[in-house]
Amino acid sequence: MRRKIVAGNWKMNTLPAEGIELACGVAKGKGEVCDCVNLIVCPPFTHLYSVIDRLRDTDIAVGAQDCATEVKGAYTGEVSAQMLAALGCEYVILGHSERRQYYGETSETLNKKMARAYESHLTPIYCVGENLEERESNRHFEVVKAQIEEVVFNLTDLQFSKLVIAYEPVWAIGTGKTATAEQAQEIHAYIREVLRSKFGAAAEQCPILYGGSCKPSNAAEIFSQEDVDGGLIGGAALKAEDFIAIGKAF
Ligand code: PEP
Repeated sequence: MRRKIVAGNWKMNTLPAEGIELACGVAKGKGEVCDCVNLIVCPPFTHLYSVIDRLRDTDIAVGAQDCATEVKGAYTGEVSAQMLAALGCEYVILGHSERRQYYGETSETLNKKMARAYESHLTPIYCVGENLEERESNRHFEVVKAQIEEVVFNLTDLQFSKLVIAYEPVWAIGTGKTATAEQAQEIHAYIREVLRSKFGAAAEQCPILYGGSCKPSNAAEIFSQEDVDGGLIGGAALKAEDFIAIGKAF
């Protein structure tokens, strides 16, 4: 049985007080979600600590949205994986398409971030996904395969056993367009096949989340697919009731 995960990526939204209120709302609704679902919230850096503090007595985990490539030192503005772990973060989102697109993150950058995350015992949620042009030219399989081969294939078996992958088609992020359940299943099964070619049977245990305009009205259908193990949720994670409703979609 693979772990089921619903993770909220708050992006650069919420002021600290709003973030705390949102986290408390998620904590309040958690009882409605099956214990078999791991809920994770990923607030901005500025309110990670307050959110971790509020969620201390719950089983809701907290993740960061990024970490530095370096361990420590003269890197103005950066936040290290060690710092995040010391705060109580358990997860870190790496390779989100917005970071690839707006901040030039490459596989080389991401290999370093993955190494820093594992050194600090953070679980990476590694994002992959094609853009619209790549999908329309039927190159989505090769794009996703390269994103996996160039980064995930460098992990040890032990590191891979802790990894979470999120498939997020760029054309579906924040656009209101969602991949159909069939499209999601097709590429999730393909991702698992690519993982199996390197890691063998361990690929069966790797949670692969879907992300891209996932909301309460479409989550159940997407999550019902065999190789979809949950969701990485953007916009709908900003309302506690919607996030909880997505958690209940299992
Ligand atoms: C995301 O950016 O991780 C995401 C899935 O966003 P949205 O749900 O808003 O499409």
